[in-house]
Amino acid sequence: MKFADAIPPAPRQILVTLRQHGHEAFLVGGCVRDLLLNRPPKDWDIVTDALPDRIMALFPKTHAIGKAFGIITVVPEEGPPVEVATYRADAPYTDGRHPTAVTFSDARTDAQRRDFTINALLLDPVSGELRDYVGGQADLAARLIRAIGDPTARFQEDHLRLLRAVRFAATLDFALDPATRAAIPPLASQIHRISAERIRDELFRLLTESQQAGAALQLLHDTGLLREILPEVAAMIGVEQPPEFHPEGDVFTHTRLMLDALPPRPSLRLALAVLLHDVGKPPTAHYATLRDGTQRWRFESHASVGADMARAILTRLRAPNALTEEVATIIAGHMRLADAPNMRPAKLRRLLGSPLFADELELHRLDCISSHAQLDIYHFLQNAHAQFAAEPVLPPPLVTGRDLIALGHTPGPHFSEILQAAYDQQLEGQTDKAALLAAIPVPPP
Ligand code: ATP
Ligand code: MG
Repeated sequence: MKFADAIPPAPRQILVTLRQHGHEAFLVGGCVRDLLLNRPPKDWDIVTDALPDRIMALFPKTHAIGKAFGIITVVPEEGPPVEVATYRADAPYTDGRHPTAVTFSDARTDAQRRDFTINALLLDPVSGELRDYVGGQADLAARLIRAIGDPTARFQEDHLRLLRAVRFAATLDFALDPATRAAIPPLASQIHRISAERIRDELFRLLTESQQAGAALQLLHDTGLLREILPEVAAMIGVEQPPEFHPEGDVFTHTRLMLDALPPRPSLRLALAVLLHDVGKPPTAHYATLRDGTQRWRFESHASVGADMARAILTRLRAPNALTEEVATIIAGHMRLADAPNMRPAKLRRLLGSPLFADELELHRLDCISSHAQLDIYHFLQNAHAQFAAEPVLPPPLVTGRDLIALGHTPGPHFSEILQAAYDQQLEGQTDKAALLAAIPVPPP
């Protein structure tokens, strides 16, 4: 009764129909957990004792893609599809991810094959009946992620659970039960048997859905998973930095603080840019003697080296190409914001007009508040951007590639350089096209 109002009509109607036809039917998994935690559920999963063919017969529109695993997708007249699964038991796992077969079973057996106790509760939202075969309610109250049964055996069956354990702990702000936690490091290297796409999905959710993504990163490290999936980030641990710029400590600590300071529900682009912005520091670190004789750590070209590394990491994780390029671009440019007050107007305007500027500025702010705490450049850029935003949009360039061809230039890589110089002059106030053309170098003979 308490929950009936929280359930959308489609899953509720499916539960009612199954019961009217004499079947058991419950909400199960993440939606029950989230209802009990007062969080909005992502999707509504239903379990029943009805067999797949029976489910297909009871509902007018269904998909049978998951039928081999006992899952029928019911397509309601309104709202998103709902997965209706027959109580099942999983046959042994041999590939570290998938059971070799499934057999149909009862509610208790179905609960016991699930990953964590808080994910195995069954709820009848109409009567309010909660079935808890695995101690999930107590763990919800204690805010614990606990594997069902023997944690080592469960992680060995399906290695994705290693990462799911950390992701649930981080995003729900729960602790890992000690035995569950202790079972992860010895198996961490097995995570490579899981597809890159699955690892990516878990990692990206961990970064964007955790209230403290820095603490999530630390947990990933403490469980031995970080050096497996992101060795380049693990390499930031212990990489010292000059204390006058970075009183907070090494590169990893700095990155962790920035992740913790991200706004709630950050974009994936920003979260990844923060995670990887200094990934170029470990390979470029060298202890340099400055001209005045003092010595300090330097990280020459770490932004461009880091951008290339970010590209390689995100490609390895099968991130979308556009996202990868945007993150790499933000990282490659992240040191140039410090020069903003000295930039020529055209250069500053290009920075302010970039579609990535909002994230670049936020990265800069996080970088500052997680180190020396100087925000003067940030405020300069905020003001400049407010002025810029009040101005009309950038005019189209007066000089184009056609003009260069008309002047006798042959199209080639030098075009963009010439066009950029002409456009810079235009943005700085030269609006006479003839004058702009006159300033263009004559083509080589
Ligand atoms: P969320 O959707 O917020 O990620 P969820 O708990 O709903 O959380 P799903 O991946 O949607 O997670 O899976 C639904 C349910 O299926 C889980 O709650 C759990 O009971 C079960 N489950 C999912 N993945 C596994 C797994 N790898 N091993 C065992 N059970 C699993
Ligand atoms: Mg779910």
